[in-house]
Amino acid sequence: MSQVETVRGPVDVQSLGATLMHEHIVNVTHEVAHDYPHLSWPEGRDAVVRSAVRQLQAVKESGIDTVVDATAFGHGRDVALVKRVNEQVDINIVVSTGYYTYGEAPFFVHLRPPAGRDVLVDMFVHDIREGVAETGVKAGLIKCATDRPGMTPVIERVLRACARAHRETGVPISTHTVAGDRNGLDQQRIFTEEGVDLTRVIIGHSGDSTDIEYLKRLMDAGSVIGADRFGLYGEGFPDMQQRVATVARLCELGYADRIVLSHDYTIHTDWYDLAAPPIEMPAVWVQTHISGDVLPALREHGVTDEQIDMMLVGNPARVLGARGGY
Ligand SMILES: [Zn+2]
Repeated sequence: MSQVETVRGPVDVQSLGATLMHEHIVNVTHEVAHDYPHLSWPEGRDAVVRSAVRQLQAVKESGIDTVVDATAFGHGRDVALVKRVNEQVDINIVVSTGYYTYGEAPFFVHLRPPAGRDVLVDMFVHDIREGVAETGVKAGLIKCATDRPGMTPVIERVLRACARAHRETGVPISTHTVAGDRNGLDQQRIFTEEGVDLTRVIIGHSGDSTDIEYLKRLMDAGSVIGADRFGLYGEGFPDMQQRVATVARLCELGYADRIVLSHDYTIHTDWYDLAAPPIEMPAVWVQTHISGDVLPALREHGVTDEQIDMMLVGNPARVLGARGGY
């Protein structure tokens, strides 16, 4: 039976159950956390552990069995902390490798040009085979991003490195996009050039678009799309009704086997002052919103239990199931 690595060790994909495919537990700016820990952890790390345990307990009680933490290198992941959290809450957590950048690379990466085998590939494969940051926790997902700057040389290098680590290990790829810029299509082009089977790629944040033709194109090429920002409503983003109507329409068109659901909600971040967030944070933007509000709304829009089961259980298991390199 196919298995996936989780914080608590390998798990049969058939037992993953209902899975949120794109969430974040913590992301902190590592150099700030190292030198100014009082700024990254104003209440202390223990308080963040307690808060994450409490929130993930509520997620579990809402009917979710597995959370995929899509926090990569460059994004401020803290797998040691996630491991402490998971010791206190009974839920599967899958952690990620890959590299989260919109175009900048630190000198460590920049001054190691990818002649021959890219150091990035070594880093990703290390996280998958040996574990992340000496925790022994192995990554079950490879993450990369294309944002407003588009396919810059650094981003193309990162995507190619993700593709090569994926082909070496079989661990799936999950992306960040700006759906309005339709840059999931650019990502698919790079992955295809690298020989990647697009059925092993989730084009993330696709749910930020209501452009059915764009979404169909991504899925017709084989990929799974992430309707993965439920709860992120407001300026520039579709509201809940628009997000629900788009997923319902795609289900009606026969695409339920290529959609996954999530919130992209971060439990603790130091990216901004939590007391003064840069955008209005909708009260529903928590990791229980899908269970509590979105699934009933999807059913009201005619989405069947079988289709919900595909999006929450079947598709995550199919994508996450390790199949080895190719
Ligand atoms: Zn994210």
